[in-house]
Amino acid sequence: MRSLKRIGISLVLALTMVLQLGVIYGQALPSEVSGKNYKVIPVLFKGVAQETIVSDYLEWSNDKKGYAVLDVKGYAYQVGSNIKIGITIGYQTPNGYTNPPDWLDRIEEISIPSNKTFEEVIKDYYIDFKDIKIVDNGNKLWFYLKGKNGGTFDRQSAQNIKLDPTASVKEPVWPNPGSIQVTNTALPVSVGGIRQEGLWQVELKVEGKNKIMTEPTDVVLVLDRSGSMANEVGDYLCNNEEHIHTRKCYSNRQLLICGKTEHRHGNSCKRLTRVEIAKQATNNFVEQLLLENEKEHNSIKVGIVAFATNVEESRCTSLTDDKTTLLKGVATALDNPAGGTNMVQGINKAKLYLDAANSKNGIIVLISDGEPTYYHTTSGNGVLGGGSYIDTATKTKTIEAAQTAKNAGYEIYSIGAGESISTVGQQVLKICSTNGINDNGEYYYLSKDTTNALINIMENVVRSIQNAARGAKVVIPIGEKFKLWTEQENQFKYEIIPSMGDTALTDSEYDCVISQGKIEREVADGKEKLTWEIGNIGEGTPAILRYYIGMTAEAQKQISYPISDETVLSYSNIYGKPAKKVGKPGGKGDFDIPEVSMDSANIRLIYYLVNDNGKPINEEGQEVERPDLAYNLKNDYYIPEGTSSKDLDFGVYTIKYDISYEKDNNKYIFKEGIVPINITRVELNALNAQPVVYLPYEKVKLQVNWTQLGNESGAFVTRNFICPEQLSNISFTVGFIEAGNITHSNLTLVIDSDYQGGNTFKDKMRFKVGDTALVNVKEVSTLKEENGYNYRSSVTATEDELKIIINNLKVKTDQVYEVNIFFKCYLKDSYTYNQYKNDMNHLSAIHQIGLTIQDIENGINEDKKPINLRYVDIPKIN
Ligand SMILES: [Zn+2]
Ligand SMILES: [Zn+2]
Repeated sequence: MRSLKRIGISLVLALTMVLQLGVIYGQALPSEVSGKNYKVIPVLFKGVAQETIVSDYLEWSNDKKGYAVLDVKGYAYQVGSNIKIGITIGYQTPNGYTNPPDWLDRIEEISIPSNKTFEEVIKDYYIDFKDIKIVDNGNKLWFYLKGKNGGTFDRQSAQNIKLDPTASVKEPVWPNPGSIQVTNTALPVSVGGIRQEGLWQVELKVEGKNKIMTEPTDVVLVLDRSGSMANEVGDYLCNNEEHIHTRKCYSNRQLLICGKTEHRHGNSCKRLTRVEIAKQATNNFVEQLLLENEKEHNSIKVGIVAFATNVEESRCTSLTDDKTTLLKGVATALDNPAGGTNMVQGINKAKLYLDAANSKNGIIVLISDGEPTYYHTTSGNGVLGGGSYIDTATKTKTIEAAQTAKNAGYEIYSIGAGESISTVGQQVLKICSTNGINDNGEYYYLSKDTTNALINIMENVVRSIQNAARGAKVVIPIGEKFKLWTEQENQFKYEIIPSMGDTALTDSEYDCVISQGKIEREVADGKEKLTWEIGNIGEGTPAILRYYIGMTAEAQKQISYPISDETVLSYSNIYGKPAKKVGKPGGKGDFDIPEVSMDSANIRLIYYLVNDNGKPINEEGQEVERPDLAYNLKNDYYIPEGTSSKDLDFGVYTIKYDISYEKDNNKYIFKEGIVPINITRVELNALNAQPVVYLPYEKVKLQVNWTQLGNESGAFVTRNFICPEQLSNISFTVGFIEAGNITHSNLTLVIDSDYQGGNTFKDKMRFKVGDTALVNVKEVSTLKEENGYNYRSSVTATEDELKIIINNLKVKTDQVYEVNIFFKCYLKDSYTYNQYKNDMNHLSAIHQIGLTIQDIENGINEDKKPINLRYVDIPKIN
């Protein structure tokens, strides 16, 4: 009775599923593999086992962006004594699905050693699907894959692909391209080792992983090396540190505690030249643009053109991605500046570089400290123009040269180096930039004569070219028990220090430092609010804000208060869609809002996920750089046993943590030996009042072990098998055992209709591409009339193989589960129902199919086991 009821329910579900299937499409066995010794091998996408369906958001231009869904299958097959690796990629074209799907072969073959078999060699082989790009040829895609033991596939799709722009996309998880991470900390301020009571320095840091640049991009730096670039007008190189005492230099009892001497730089102090500033900023630009870790994906090249009265070929560097060559090129370009300003020739030379490269994106970054004074004659060798001033012809020719480059499709960023540039000089530079006179700060910049100012601008340009997010902004409502600690009551002075690293704010005369963008304080109804317009978020240059807050007199002792109210970072993500990260107190949001107290402390406990090697990992199992970037299992304040408050007195605490921890039906255990055990002994004092303790946890390992349900001649038996074209049912049990090194949660069940050699039914049964199946899993010990879990799997099928994927199978280790699979199979063309019925009734005929349980992610790959099918007589079908 039980079985019948179950089938009835499943039929209803199966019908619902058929209506919803739409997207799922299958692949027949490719002709390349057919008839050969072959094995289906796993495909990983971005390091995660996807098992056939791969999807990614791709973006190039408005009409060329959207969600691509690919059906990817990997094959290893034997050709003589060699193994070839190939994949099929099925996808939806604007007119339907590809049939047959694209086939890609790896170029190199693997030879089978004489003492090994095909199966042994290929046992652990998988394909790593690294990247998909849109190709400038309709909506074709470019696939880039790698084999486990090297060897790449690198080819274009045969047909245009349909990209769905409306599909919703999951925000990228660190460290994937486009992921964003926010950290927010508050440290008690101490001067000379003495805590300044009630005063904290807050740091808000936004980091990002750059989007992969899928189009070749060339950037030519056009650098002014005219005589005026040698002027000593930049940062002071004085031996004395500039310091004017501020209120922070004095203790509460008005003692001078900064330990510094006042000094204000003046005419007698040495300064940097413009060209020295330009060198530093340009070197930094090259470093940031060619981040080493992105070279595999990115195709950015940089060239250098230096101009004075003329462009000298020997001071230029043609397009390259070699950093060493470029850094040398910057030095050569800016060495010993002399002569006039022939911007025309500089722009023309850059255009020649870009024309020759003919890449998708061409960018010119023009830096000059003055108005153009020469232009190059198109015929002859001479130069024309005023030489030391701008005349009408030079102005016109310069703007023309820039316009010609812009007409050719190149973007121009122009940077005025030094605010002393004449109005007409500034005007020319602005007109030369991409948006021309209408630019609102995206393509045209005017820099102060300081290293920080020029580096900031050039980093902005880098972040315009490549970034993790655009237009980021964070709004910080200051907590009600706090006030911003500012030098002057009615002023809020900020300084931009790009790439500030750990530079302290303590000695600064500024109330706040930021690494990029601009910041504003607003006061409304007595409440303060900071609005930081960050701009673009770029990898390698984290956006950092540091400011002071002081606790107000209303704050009570022994109670900690959140430093700000809910804080929201908004931005446009790599898909061009609005996204945000929300900070909430108690670690309950995307990032933390610290809670601090005048005279007590608290301890934050963060349980984070690690892999077998103890390395922090994200929720997808990818390694990340630090524990705070790892998947966060638990984020809470430490509350000592027998108490109920997170606010603790200063003193020494030994933290008790869970040996094992359960979350979302998964079990995790504390990973020994990763962190020194004494991290759990914490001393809280005035200067260590909000420590965070990171505790590593590893997901409990499970092993799958499946056994029969019913037995006939040593093989598994179906409960019910009604074939063809009716719903059939395979039933078996599975147990999950905690084990040392095998883990699981995503199971793949594969039914092979073509299982046994010599079997009467071999090659006579098939599955239908596009069909679906249903799996019911329930605990054996609670087998009542409950239905257990029903899994509508993402089924893909070839004619001979039905594959069912169960993601996040929720199981307990002390239980045995009954698994029922419901599916349909069909007779192959030449085989009739009557033949089938006769064959089934023939006693010596055993119809067997093979069942395999795989967990590719964790290496479980149970041997294929036979299942005997029992014929059940039903009314005639064909
Ligand atoms: Zn001082
Ligand atoms: Zn000085």
